[in-house]
Amino acid sequence: HRLFASQKRPRQEDTKGISASKSTDFAAWYTQVITRSEMIEYYDVSGCYILRPWSFFIWQEVSRWLDRKIQAIGVQNAYFPCFVSQEALSAEEDHLEGFSPEVAWVTRSGTSDLTKPIAIRPTSETIMYPSFAKWIRSHRDLPLQLNQWTNVVRWEFKQPTPFLRTREFLWQEGHTAHATEVEATNLVRSALDLYSCVYTDLLALPVIKGVKSVEEKFAGSVYTETLEAFIPETGRGIQAATSHYLGQNFARMFGIRFEDDAGQKQLVHQTCWGFTTRCIGIMIMVHGDDKGLVLPPRVAPTQAVLIPIPGSEGAGIEARCSELATTLKECGVRAEVDARRSYTPGWKFNWWEMKGVPLRLEVGPKDMAQGTCRMVCRFDGSKKDVEQSKLATCIPAELKRIHEDMLEKATRERDEGVATVARWDEVVPMLNQRKLIMAPWCESAESEVEIRSRTKEELETGLAAAANVAKPLLTGAMKSLCIPLIQPPMPPGTKCFVTGDPAKRWALFGRSY
Ligand code: AMP
Repeated sequence: HRLFASQKRPRQEDTKGISASKSTDFAAWYTQVITRSEMIEYYDVSGCYILRPWSFFIWQEVSRWLDRKIQAIGVQNAYFPCFVSQEALSAEEDHLEGFSPEVAWVTRSGTSDLTKPIAIRPTSETIMYPSFAKWIRSHRDLPLQLNQWTNVVRWEFKQPTPFLRTREFLWQEGHTAHATEVEATNLVRSALDLYSCVYTDLLALPVIKGVKSVEEKFAGSVYTETLEAFIPETGRGIQAATSHYLGQNFARMFGIRFEDDAGQKQLVHQTCWGFTTRCIGIMIMVHGDDKGLVLPPRVAPTQAVLIPIPGSEGAGIEARCSELATTLKECGVRAEVDARRSYTPGWKFNWWEMKGVPLRLEVGPKDMAQGTCRMVCRFDGSKKDVEQSKLATCIPAELKRIHEDMLEKATRERDEGVATVARWDEVVPMLNQRKLIMAPWCESAESEVEIRSRTKEELETGLAAAANVAKPLLTGAMKSLCIPLIQPPMPPGTKCFVTGDPAKRWALFGRSY
Protein backbone atom coordinates (compact mmCIF):
# COMPACT_ATOMS: atom_id res chain seq x y z
CA HIS A 1 0.00 0.00 0.00
CA ARG A 2 1.45 3.32 -0.97
CA LEU A 3 1.54 6.49 1.01
CA PHE A 4 -1.21 8.76 -0.24
CA ALA A 5 -0.13 11.96 1.44
CA SER A 6 1.95 14.30 -0.65
CA GLN A 7 5.60 13.42 -0.27
CA LYS A 8 6.56 17.02 -0.71
CA ARG A 9 5.60 19.67 1.79
CA PRO A 10 2.03 20.68 0.82
CA ARG A 11 1.56 24.24 -0.44
CA GLN A 12 0.24 26.72 2.08
CA GLU A 13 -3.33 26.69 0.67
CA ASP A 14 -3.50 22.90 0.76
CA THR A 15 -2.61 22.74 4.40
CA LYS A 16 -5.51 24.92 5.46
CA GLY A 17 -8.24 23.07 7.25
CA ILE A 18 -11.91 23.37 6.45
CA SER A 19 -13.23 26.85 7.27
CA ALA A 20 -16.73 26.68 5.74
CA SER A 21 -19.46 25.22 7.93
CA LYS A 22 -21.46 22.28 6.63
CA SER A 23 -24.70 23.56 8.12
CA THR A 24 -24.48 27.22 7.10
CA ASP A 25 -22.59 27.14 3.78
CA PHE A 26 -22.95 23.68 2.38
CA ALA A 27 -21.73 24.44 -1.16
CA ALA A 28 -18.49 26.09 0.03
CA TRP A 29 -18.02 23.31 2.59
CA TYR A 30 -18.29 20.63 -0.11
CA THR A 31 -15.82 22.41 -2.40
CA GLN A 32 -13.29 22.84 0.39
CA VAL A 33 -13.64 19.24 1.56
CA ILE A 34 -13.14 17.63 -1.85
CA THR A 35 -10.20 19.85 -2.83
CA ARG A 36 -8.32 20.15 0.46
CA SER A 37 -8.62 16.45 1.23
CA GLU A 38 -7.02 15.83 -2.19
CA MET A 39 -9.98 14.02 -3.72
CA ILE A 40 -10.69 16.39 -6.61
CA GLU A 41 -8.69 18.79 -8.75
CA TYR A 42 -10.65 21.24 -10.86
CA TYR A 43 -10.22 21.18 -14.62
CA ASP A 44 -10.63 23.74 -17.39
CA VAL A 45 -13.54 21.98 -19.14
CA SER A 46 -16.74 22.80 -17.28
CA GLY A 47 -18.37 19.81 -15.58
CA CYS A 48 -15.21 17.65 -15.74
CA TYR A 49 -12.99 16.95 -12.74
CA ILE A 50 -9.79 15.11 -11.96
CA LEU A 51 -10.20 12.19 -9.56
CA ARG A 52 -7.05 12.14 -7.46
CA PRO A 53 -5.78 8.94 -5.77
CA TRP A 54 -7.70 9.66 -2.56
CA SER A 55 -11.06 9.41 -4.35
CA PHE A 56 -10.06 7.06 -7.16
CA PHE A 57 -9.10 4.43 -4.61
CA ILE A 58 -12.67 4.50 -3.30
CA TRP A 59 -14.06 4.08 -6.82
CA GLN A 60 -11.74 1.13 -7.39
CA GLU A 61 -12.63 -0.47 -4.09
CA VAL A 62 -16.34 -0.19 -4.93
CA SER A 63 -15.67 -1.42 -8.50
CA ARG A 64 -13.69 -4.45 -7.35
CA TRP A 65 -16.44 -5.49 -4.96
CA LEU A 66 -19.24 -4.90 -7.46
CA ASP A 67 -17.35 -6.54 -10.31
CA ARG A 68 -16.96 -9.78 -8.33
CA LYS A 69 -20.68 -9.81 -7.53
CA ILE A 70 -21.63 -9.06 -11.14
CA GLN A 71 -19.53 -11.97 -12.37
CA ALA A 72 -21.07 -14.18 -9.69
CA ILE A 73 -24.56 -13.68 -11.15
CA GLY A 74 -23.25 -14.89 -14.51
CA VAL A 75 -22.55 -11.57 -16.24
CA GLN A 76 -19.34 -11.30 -18.30
CA ASN A 77 -17.23 -8.21 -18.91
CA ALA A 78 -16.65 -6.86 -22.42
CA TYR A 79 -15.73 -3.55 -23.98
CA PHE A 80 -17.53 -1.66 -26.76
CA PRO A 81 -16.32 1.52 -28.52
CA CYS A 82 -17.19 4.95 -27.10
CA PHE A 83 -18.48 6.25 -30.46
CA VAL A 84 -21.93 5.79 -31.91
CA SER A 85 -23.26 6.60 -35.36
CA GLN A 86 -26.23 8.88 -35.80
CA GLU A 87 -28.32 6.05 -37.31
CA ALA A 88 -27.73 3.68 -34.42
CA LEU A 89 -28.37 6.39 -31.83
CA SER A 90 -31.70 7.25 -33.49
CA ALA A 91 -32.98 3.66 -33.63
CA GLU A 92 -35.18 3.84 -30.52
CA GLU A 93 -37.32 6.98 -30.62
CA ASP A 94 -38.02 7.53 -26.90
CA HIS A 95 -34.41 6.77 -26.06
CA LEU A 96 -33.18 9.32 -28.60
CA GLU A 97 -35.62 11.94 -27.39
CA GLY A 98 -34.52 11.41 -23.78
CA PHE A 99 -30.81 11.62 -24.45
CA SER A 100 -30.38 13.88 -27.48
CA PRO A 101 -30.12 17.21 -25.58
CA GLU A 102 -27.12 15.83 -23.68
CA VAL A 103 -25.24 14.06 -26.47
CA ALA A 104 -21.76 15.38 -27.36
CA TRP A 105 -20.76 15.06 -31.02
CA VAL A 106 -17.46 14.74 -32.82
CA THR A 107 -17.79 16.83 -35.97
CA ARG A 108 -14.21 17.34 -37.10
CA SER A 109 -10.92 15.51 -37.35
CA GLY A 110 -7.96 17.84 -37.53
CA THR A 111 -9.06 20.59 -39.87
CA SER A 112 -11.54 18.62 -41.97
CA ASP A 113 -15.21 18.14 -41.16
CA LEU A 114 -16.44 14.56 -40.82
CA THR A 115 -18.97 13.58 -43.48
CA LYS A 116 -21.27 12.45 -40.70
CA PRO A 117 -20.92 13.55 -37.08
CA ILE A 118 -20.26 10.75 -34.58
CA ALA A 119 -21.73 10.80 -31.08
CA ILE A 120 -19.87 9.97 -27.87
CA ARG A 121 -21.77 7.42 -25.77
CA PRO A 122 -24.11 8.85 -23.15
CA THR A 123 -24.97 5.15 -22.45
CA SER A 124 -24.40 2.12 -24.69
CA GLU A 125 -27.72 0.50 -25.65
CA THR A 126 -27.43 1.64 -29.25
CA ILE A 127 -23.75 0.63 -29.42
CA MET A 128 -24.19 -2.87 -28.02
CA TYR A 129 -27.53 -4.01 -29.36
CA PRO A 130 -26.61 -4.30 -33.08
CA SER A 131 -24.09 -6.94 -31.91
CA PHE A 132 -26.70 -8.59 -29.70
CA ALA A 133 -28.79 -9.00 -32.89
CA LYS A 134 -25.84 -10.73 -34.59
CA TRP A 135 -24.91 -12.98 -31.68
CA ILE A 136 -28.36 -14.18 -30.66
CA ARG A 137 -29.87 -16.83 -32.93
CA SER A 138 -31.53 -19.45 -30.79
CA HIS A 139 -32.69 -19.89 -27.20
CA ARG A 140 -29.34 -21.61 -26.62
CA ASP A 141 -27.63 -18.20 -26.98
CA LEU A 142 -29.68 -16.85 -24.07
CA PRO A 143 -29.34 -15.33 -21.63
CA LEU A 144 -26.69 -13.01 -23.04
CA GLN A 145 -25.36 -11.05 -20.05
CA LEU A 146 -22.65 -8.42 -20.54
CA ASN A 147 -21.19 -5.64 -18.46
CA GLN A 148 -18.63 -2.94 -19.14
CA TRP A 149 -16.65 -0.52 -16.96
CA THR A 150 -16.29 2.75 -18.87
CA ASN A 151 -16.64 6.48 -18.95
CA VAL A 152 -19.71 8.11 -20.48
CA VAL A 153 -20.38 11.69 -21.55
CA ARG A 154 -23.63 13.53 -20.91
CA TRP A 155 -23.48 17.25 -21.66
CA GLU A 156 -25.67 18.14 -18.69
CA PHE A 157 -27.41 21.54 -18.52
CA LYS A 158 -28.00 21.46 -14.81
CA GLN A 159 -25.32 22.96 -12.58
CA PRO A 160 -22.45 20.43 -12.46
CA THR A 161 -21.34 19.18 -9.04
CA PRO A 162 -18.20 17.06 -8.64
CA PHE A 163 -19.13 13.35 -8.37
CA LEU A 164 -22.90 13.99 -8.30
CA ARG A 165 -23.45 15.46 -11.72
CA THR A 166 -20.51 15.61 -14.08
CA ARG A 167 -20.30 15.74 -17.86
CA GLU A 168 -17.98 12.79 -18.03
CA PHE A 169 -18.38 10.11 -15.39
CA LEU A 170 -17.20 6.59 -14.68
CA TRP A 171 -19.65 3.75 -14.35
CA GLN A 172 -20.43 0.15 -15.03
CA GLU A 173 -23.31 -0.62 -17.34
CA GLY A 174 -24.87 -4.07 -17.45
CA HIS A 175 -26.91 -5.15 -20.47
CA THR A 176 -28.72 -8.48 -20.63
CA ALA A 177 -31.09 -10.29 -23.00
CA HIS A 178 -33.41 -13.10 -21.93
CA ALA A 179 -35.95 -15.50 -23.34
CA THR A 180 -38.63 -14.56 -20.84
CA GLU A 181 -39.93 -11.49 -19.09
CA VAL A 182 -39.70 -13.20 -15.70
CA GLU A 183 -36.01 -13.94 -16.15
CA ALA A 184 -35.33 -10.37 -17.22
CA THR A 185 -37.28 -8.72 -14.42
CA ASN A 186 -35.55 -10.98 -11.88
CA LEU A 187 -32.23 -9.72 -13.17
CA VAL A 188 -33.38 -6.10 -12.90
CA ARG A 189 -34.01 -6.76 -9.22
CA SER A 190 -30.74 -8.65 -8.67
CA ALA A 191 -28.75 -5.67 -9.99
CA LEU A 192 -30.71 -3.28 -7.76
CA ASP A 193 -30.00 -5.52 -4.75
CA LEU A 194 -26.26 -5.48 -5.51
CA TYR A 195 -26.27 -1.68 -5.73
CA SER A 196 -28.12 -1.47 -2.45
CA CYS A 197 -25.43 -3.65 -0.82
CA VAL A 198 -22.68 -1.34 -2.10
CA TYR A 199 -24.39 1.57 -0.38
CA THR A 200 -25.14 -0.12 2.92
CA ASP A 201 -22.25 -2.59 3.26
CA LEU A 202 -19.39 -0.52 1.81
CA LEU A 203 -20.41 3.13 2.06
CA ALA A 204 -22.51 2.92 5.25
CA LEU A 205 -25.39 4.72 3.54
CA PRO A 206 -29.09 3.87 3.71
CA VAL A 207 -31.08 3.82 0.46
CA ILE A 208 -34.75 3.39 -0.40
CA LYS A 209 -35.54 0.86 -3.12
CA GLY A 210 -38.38 1.82 -5.40
CA VAL A 211 -39.75 2.13 -8.89
CA LYS A 212 -39.74 5.40 -10.85
CA SER A 213 -42.96 7.05 -12.00
CA VAL A 214 -43.76 6.93 -15.72
CA GLU A 215 -42.53 10.53 -16.08
CA GLU A 216 -39.20 9.79 -14.40
CA LYS A 217 -38.35 6.41 -15.93
CA PHE A 218 -35.38 5.82 -18.22
CA ALA A 219 -35.90 6.89 -21.84
CA GLY A 220 -37.00 3.80 -23.78
CA SER A 221 -37.60 1.50 -20.78
CA VAL A 222 -40.80 -0.25 -19.68
CA TYR A 223 -40.02 0.56 -16.05
CA THR A 224 -37.08 1.75 -13.95
CA GLU A 225 -36.16 0.51 -10.50
CA THR A 226 -34.13 2.92 -8.42
CA LEU A 227 -32.27 3.53 -5.18
CA GLU A 228 -32.92 6.90 -3.60
CA ALA A 229 -30.55 8.44 -1.07
CA PHE A 230 -30.99 11.53 1.09
CA ILE A 231 -28.69 14.46 1.87
CA PRO A 232 -29.91 15.76 5.26
CA GLU A 233 -28.08 19.09 5.10
CA THR A 234 -29.92 20.23 1.96
CA GLY A 235 -33.03 18.09 2.38
CA ARG A 236 -32.63 16.80 -1.17
CA GLY A 237 -33.12 13.31 -2.49
CA ILE A 238 -30.68 11.85 -4.99
CA GLN A 239 -30.96 8.96 -7.42
CA ALA A 240 -28.22 6.64 -6.22
CA ALA A 241 -28.41 3.96 -8.95
CA THR A 242 -30.93 2.59 -11.43
CA SER A 243 -31.87 -0.72 -13.02
CA HIS A 244 -34.17 -0.79 -16.04
CA TYR A 245 -36.49 -3.33 -17.62
CA LEU A 246 -36.39 -2.50 -21.33
CA GLY A 247 -39.04 -5.05 -22.33
CA GLN A 248 -38.90 -5.73 -26.07
CA ASN A 249 -38.62 -2.09 -27.24
CA PHE A 250 -34.96 -2.20 -28.20
CA ALA A 251 -35.22 -5.81 -29.43
CA ARG A 252 -37.88 -4.70 -31.92
CA MET A 253 -35.80 -1.76 -33.18
CA PHE A 254 -32.54 -3.68 -33.43
CA GLY A 255 -34.08 -6.99 -34.55
CA ILE A 256 -32.84 -9.05 -31.57
CA ARG A 257 -34.75 -12.33 -32.10
CA PHE A 258 -34.25 -15.92 -31.09
CA GLU A 259 -35.81 -19.17 -32.17
CA ASP A 260 -37.69 -20.73 -29.27
CA ASP A 261 -38.11 -24.47 -28.52
CA ALA A 262 -40.96 -24.68 -30.99
CA GLY A 263 -38.92 -23.08 -33.78
CA GLN A 264 -40.83 -19.77 -33.53
CA LYS A 265 -38.99 -16.42 -33.81
CA GLN A 266 -39.37 -14.37 -30.62
CA LEU A 267 -38.08 -10.99 -29.46
CA VAL A 268 -35.76 -11.03 -26.42
CA HIS A 269 -36.55 -9.28 -23.13
CA GLN A 270 -33.80 -6.89 -22.06
CA THR A 271 -32.39 -5.16 -19.01
CA CYS A 272 -29.78 -2.49 -18.38
CA TRP A 273 -28.41 -1.08 -15.13
CA GLY A 274 -25.76 1.45 -14.11
CA PHE A 275 -23.79 2.56 -11.07
CA THR A 276 -21.54 5.65 -11.17
CA THR A 277 -18.95 7.77 -9.38
CA ARG A 278 -21.93 9.71 -7.99
CA CYS A 279 -21.84 7.34 -5.00
CA ILE A 280 -18.65 9.03 -3.74
CA GLY A 281 -20.35 12.44 -3.63
CA ILE A 282 -23.30 11.05 -1.66
CA MET A 283 -20.87 9.43 0.78
CA ILE A 284 -18.99 12.71 1.32
CA MET A 285 -22.15 14.78 1.72
CA VAL A 286 -23.81 12.44 4.21
CA HIS A 287 -20.86 11.49 6.42
CA GLY A 288 -18.57 14.55 6.25
CA ASP A 289 -18.41 17.14 9.05
CA ASP A 290 -16.86 20.53 9.78
CA LYS A 291 -13.39 19.00 10.07
CA GLY A 292 -13.62 17.40 6.62
CA LEU A 293 -14.17 13.91 5.28
CA VAL A 294 -15.39 11.04 7.41
CA LEU A 295 -14.64 7.90 5.42
CA PRO A 296 -16.48 4.63 5.94
CA PRO A 297 -13.78 2.08 6.91
CA ARG A 298 -14.53 -0.46 4.16
CA VAL A 299 -13.53 2.00 1.40
CA ALA A 300 -11.02 4.27 3.17
CA PRO A 301 -7.66 4.25 1.30
CA THR A 302 -5.96 4.34 4.70
CA GLN A 303 -7.94 2.78 7.54
CA ALA A 304 -5.51 3.49 10.37
CA VAL A 305 -2.70 6.04 10.44
CA LEU A 306 0.08 5.67 12.99
CA ILE A 307 1.57 8.89 14.25
CA PRO A 308 4.84 8.76 16.19
CA ILE A 309 5.07 11.40 18.90
CA PRO A 310 8.82 11.57 19.39
CA GLY A 311 10.25 12.35 22.79
CA SER A 312 13.93 11.75 23.50
CA GLU A 313 13.78 8.35 21.77
CA GLY A 314 12.43 9.53 18.36
CA ALA A 315 13.89 6.82 16.15
CA GLY A 316 12.77 4.00 18.45
CA ILE A 317 9.19 5.19 18.31
CA GLU A 318 9.20 5.41 14.51
CA ALA A 319 10.60 1.89 14.23
CA ARG A 320 7.91 0.62 16.60
CA CYS A 321 5.22 2.37 14.50
CA SER A 322 6.55 0.65 11.36
CA GLU A 323 6.39 -2.74 13.08
CA LEU A 324 2.82 -2.10 14.21
CA ALA A 325 1.85 -1.00 10.68
CA THR A 326 3.34 -4.22 9.29
CA THR A 327 1.35 -6.29 11.78
CA LEU A 328 -1.84 -4.45 10.83
CA LYS A 329 -1.22 -4.88 7.11
CA GLU A 330 -0.69 -8.60 7.66
CA CYS A 331 -4.18 -8.87 9.08
CA GLY A 332 -5.68 -6.94 6.17
CA VAL A 333 -5.84 -3.43 7.62
CA ARG A 334 -4.75 -0.59 5.31
CA ALA A 335 -2.31 1.07 7.72
CA GLU A 336 0.40 3.64 7.20
CA VAL A 337 2.89 5.57 9.32
CA ASP A 338 3.11 9.32 8.97
CA ALA A 339 6.79 9.73 9.80
CA ARG A 340 7.22 13.11 8.09
CA ARG A 341 9.74 15.08 10.16
CA SER A 342 8.69 18.50 8.91
CA TYR A 343 5.29 18.42 10.61
CA THR A 344 4.28 18.43 14.23
CA PRO A 345 2.05 15.65 15.55
CA GLY A 346 -0.76 18.21 16.04
CA TRP A 347 -0.58 19.24 12.40
CA LYS A 348 -0.73 15.61 11.35
CA PHE A 349 -3.79 14.98 13.55
CA ASN A 350 -5.66 17.75 11.72
CA TRP A 351 -4.44 16.61 8.33
CA TRP A 352 -5.63 13.02 8.70
CA GLU A 353 -8.88 14.15 10.27
CA MET A 354 -9.54 16.33 7.22
CA LYS A 355 -8.80 13.33 5.00
CA GLY A 356 -11.30 11.28 6.97
CA VAL A 357 -9.07 8.36 8.01
CA PRO A 358 -11.22 6.24 10.36
CA LEU A 359 -8.60 5.58 13.06
CA ARG A 360 -5.54 7.42 14.33
CA LEU A 361 -3.02 5.59 16.49
CA GLU A 362 -0.68 7.81 18.48
CA VAL A 363 2.52 6.34 19.90
CA GLY A 364 4.52 8.50 22.35
CA PRO A 365 7.21 7.80 24.97
CA LYS A 366 4.62 6.94 27.65
CA ASP A 367 2.88 4.52 25.29
CA MET A 368 6.26 2.92 24.50
CA ALA A 369 6.90 2.37 28.20
CA GLN A 370 3.44 0.86 28.76
CA GLY A 371 3.25 -1.10 25.50
CA THR A 372 0.06 0.74 24.49
CA CYS A 373 -1.05 3.27 21.94
CA ARG A 374 -3.82 5.82 21.90
CA MET A 375 -6.59 5.05 19.42
CA VAL A 376 -8.73 7.98 18.24
CA CYS A 377 -11.85 7.44 16.14
CA ARG A 378 -12.56 10.01 13.40
CA PHE A 379 -16.30 9.34 13.29
CA ASP A 380 -17.25 9.92 16.91
CA GLY A 381 -14.04 11.34 18.43
CA SER A 382 -13.82 8.50 20.97
CA LYS A 383 -10.37 7.84 22.44
CA LYS A 384 -8.98 4.83 24.17
CA ASP A 385 -5.65 3.24 25.06
CA VAL A 386 -5.12 -0.15 23.48
CA GLU A 387 -2.34 -2.63 24.00
CA GLN A 388 0.08 -2.80 21.10
CA SER A 389 0.03 -6.59 21.29
CA LYS A 390 -3.75 -6.60 20.72
CA LEU A 391 -3.93 -4.26 17.70
CA ALA A 392 -4.36 -7.16 15.27
CA THR A 393 -7.72 -8.04 16.79
CA CYS A 394 -8.69 -4.65 18.18
CA ILE A 395 -8.41 -2.59 15.01
CA PRO A 396 -10.48 -4.82 12.67
CA ALA A 397 -13.18 -5.01 15.37
CA GLU A 398 -13.14 -1.25 15.82
CA LEU A 399 -13.39 -0.66 12.04
CA LYS A 400 -16.42 -2.96 11.95
CA ARG A 401 -18.00 -1.10 14.86
CA ILE A 402 -17.42 2.26 13.13
CA HIS A 403 -19.09 1.03 9.93
CA GLU A 404 -22.15 -0.13 11.85
CA ASP A 405 -22.41 3.09 13.86
CA MET A 406 -22.02 5.25 10.75
CA LEU A 407 -24.79 3.35 8.98
CA GLU A 408 -27.02 3.59 12.03
CA LYS A 409 -26.50 7.35 12.36
CA ALA A 410 -27.11 7.96 8.66
CA THR A 411 -30.23 5.78 8.76
CA ARG A 412 -31.59 7.65 11.77
CA GLU A 413 -31.02 10.99 10.06
CA ARG A 414 -32.62 9.73 6.85
CA ASP A 415 -35.66 8.43 8.73
CA GLU A 416 -36.02 11.78 10.49
CA GLY A 417 -35.80 13.43 7.09
CA VAL A 418 -38.90 11.76 5.65
CA ALA A 419 -42.27 13.29 6.60
CA THR A 420 -45.47 11.36 6.03
CA VAL A 421 -48.06 13.72 4.64
CA ALA A 422 -51.77 13.25 3.81
CA ARG A 423 -52.78 16.68 2.45
CA TRP A 424 -51.24 19.22 0.10
CA ASP A 425 -51.10 22.06 2.65
CA GLU A 426 -48.61 20.06 4.74
CA VAL A 427 -46.13 19.73 1.87
CA VAL A 428 -44.37 23.10 1.64
CA PRO A 429 -43.87 23.53 5.39
CA MET A 430 -42.20 20.09 5.43
CA LEU A 431 -40.03 20.92 2.40
CA ASN A 432 -38.95 24.05 4.23
CA GLN A 433 -37.80 21.88 7.09
CA ARG A 434 -35.59 20.10 4.55
CA LYS A 435 -37.61 16.93 4.50
CA LEU A 436 -38.65 14.46 1.84
CA ILE A 437 -42.35 13.72 1.57
CA MET A 438 -44.02 10.33 1.72
CA ALA A 439 -47.61 10.65 0.52
CA PRO A 440 -50.49 8.62 -0.95
CA TRP A 441 -50.54 9.22 -4.69
CA CYS A 442 -52.86 8.62 -7.64
CA GLU A 443 -49.80 8.30 -9.97
CA SER A 444 -51.37 10.33 -12.81
CA ALA A 445 -49.07 12.14 -15.25
CA GLU A 446 -51.04 15.37 -14.79
CA SER A 447 -50.56 15.33 -11.02
CA GLU A 448 -46.82 14.85 -11.53
CA VAL A 449 -46.70 18.07 -13.56
CA GLU A 450 -48.84 19.86 -11.01
CA ILE A 451 -46.62 18.75 -8.12
CA ARG A 452 -43.60 20.35 -9.77
CA SER A 453 -45.23 23.62 -10.72
CA ARG A 454 -47.16 24.12 -7.47
CA THR A 455 -44.22 23.44 -5.17
CA LYS A 456 -41.92 25.65 -7.23
CA GLU A 457 -44.42 28.48 -7.10
CA GLU A 458 -45.29 28.10 -3.43
CA LEU A 459 -41.67 27.77 -2.34
CA GLU A 460 -40.57 30.71 -4.39
CA THR A 461 -43.43 33.15 -3.83
CA GLY A 462 -42.78 33.02 -0.14
CA LEU A 463 -46.13 31.46 0.73
CA ALA A 464 -43.95 29.30 2.86
CA ALA A 465 -42.99 32.24 5.04
CA ALA A 466 -46.07 31.36 7.05
CA ALA A 467 -44.32 28.17 8.05
CA ASN A 468 -42.10 30.28 10.32
CA VAL A 469 -38.86 28.38 9.79
CA ALA A 470 -35.49 29.26 11.23
CA LYS A 471 -33.31 28.52 8.19
CA PRO A 472 -33.68 30.51 4.96
CA LEU A 473 -36.45 29.32 2.66
CA LEU A 474 -35.51 26.93 -0.06
CA THR A 475 -36.15 27.02 -3.76
CA GLY A 476 -36.69 24.37 -6.43
CA ALA A 477 -39.52 22.12 -7.44
CA MET A 478 -40.49 18.90 -5.73
CA LYS A 479 -40.73 15.82 -7.93
CA SER A 480 -41.48 12.18 -7.45
CA LEU A 481 -38.39 10.21 -6.42
CA CYS A 482 -39.83 6.71 -6.32
CA ILE A 483 -42.69 4.49 -5.35
CA PRO A 484 -41.01 2.47 -2.59
CA LEU A 485 -40.96 -1.31 -3.01
CA ILE A 486 -41.78 -1.68 0.68
CA GLN A 487 -45.16 0.01 1.10
CA PRO A 488 -46.69 1.13 4.38
CA PRO A 489 -50.29 -0.08 4.73
CA MET A 490 -52.83 2.11 2.94
CA PRO A 491 -56.33 2.20 4.46
CA PRO A 492 -59.18 1.72 1.95
CA GLY A 493 -60.53 5.02 0.63
CA THR A 494 -57.20 6.88 0.98
CA LYS A 495 -57.10 9.91 -1.30
CA CYS A 496 -54.23 11.29 -3.39
CA PHE A 497 -52.56 14.23 -1.61
CA VAL A 498 -52.59 16.31 -4.80
CA THR A 499 -55.75 15.52 -6.74
CA GLY A 500 -58.04 13.99 -4.12
CA ASP A 501 -58.63 11.04 -6.47
CA PRO A 502 -58.25 7.52 -5.06
CA ALA A 503 -54.58 6.91 -4.15
CA LYS A 504 -52.83 3.90 -5.69
CA ARG A 505 -49.65 3.66 -3.62
CA TRP A 506 -47.42 5.59 -1.23
CA ALA A 507 -44.74 7.54 -3.07
CA LEU A 508 -41.61 9.40 -2.03
CA PHE A 509 -41.24 12.99 -3.24
CA GLY A 510 -38.68 15.68 -2.71
CA ARG A 511 -36.45 18.37 -4.03
CA SER A 512 -33.63 16.52 -5.65
CA TYR A 513 -30.21 16.77 -7.25
P1 AMP B 1 -29.14 6.12 -16.26
O1 AMP B 1 -28.37 5.40 -17.30
O2 AMP B 1 -29.68 7.43 -16.74
O3 AMP B 1 -30.16 5.28 -15.56
O4 AMP B 1 -28.08 6.54 -15.13
C1 AMP B 1 -27.56 5.60 -14.25
C2 AMP B 1 -27.17 6.28 -12.96
O5 AMP B 1 -26.14 7.19 -13.23
C3 AMP B 1 -28.24 7.15 -12.32
O6 AMP B 1 -29.07 6.39 -11.49
C4 AMP B 1 -27.44 8.14 -11.50
O7 AMP B 1 -27.20 7.61 -10.22
C5 AMP B 1 -26.13 8.23 -12.26
N1 AMP B 1 -25.95 9.49 -13.02
C6 AMP B 1 -26.79 10.02 -13.94
N2 AMP B 1 -26.27 11.16 -14.45
C7 AMP B 1 -25.08 11.35 -13.85
C8 AMP B 1 -24.06 12.36 -13.96
N3 AMP B 1 -24.17 13.39 -14.80
N4 AMP B 1 -22.95 12.23 -13.19
C9 AMP B 1 -22.81 11.17 -12.34
N5 AMP B 1 -23.73 10.20 -12.22
C10 AMP B 1 -24.86 10.27 -12.95
